[in-house]
Amino acid sequence: MKDKKIIAYKNERVKKFAYNLRSLIQEAVMVEWGRLGRNQKNKPALQYIKVENERSDLHRALQASICECPGCRHADRDMVYNAPLKHWFCTQCAQEYRDFYHKKKAIIDQGGFVGDFDEFFHSTFL
Ligand SMILES: [Zn+2]
Repeated sequence: MKDKKIIAYKNERVKKFAYNLRSLIQEAVMVEWGRLGRNQKNKPALQYIKVENERSDLHRALQASICECPGCRHADRDMVYNAPLKHWFCTQCAQEYRDFYHKKKAIIDQGGFVGDFDEFFHSTFL
């Protein structure tokens, strides 16, 4: 992966603090996301769509942040930045996506069929 940025805390106290902060932000976003959802019930269509867009923006911002891995939703792991996707993933998910790419690519290279395989997505983890 080009432009590889990895956040891996070596100091246990810093790691615990960072993970707790990520979880707190993750929880605050989900509380607000839920509040917006409850408030959008019985709203006219245009207001409903506006609130739904706000909820989507909130969720997208959380997933693009370092607070939550979009693959597994964990907040307590070392993270690696995926520049083409502009998202942070935990190093475990990044490794799984990388392994998956190599496995599926080997099947394709031998003329096999792999079904639903997003080659671009998985190639961004190389
Ligand atoms: Zn993950």
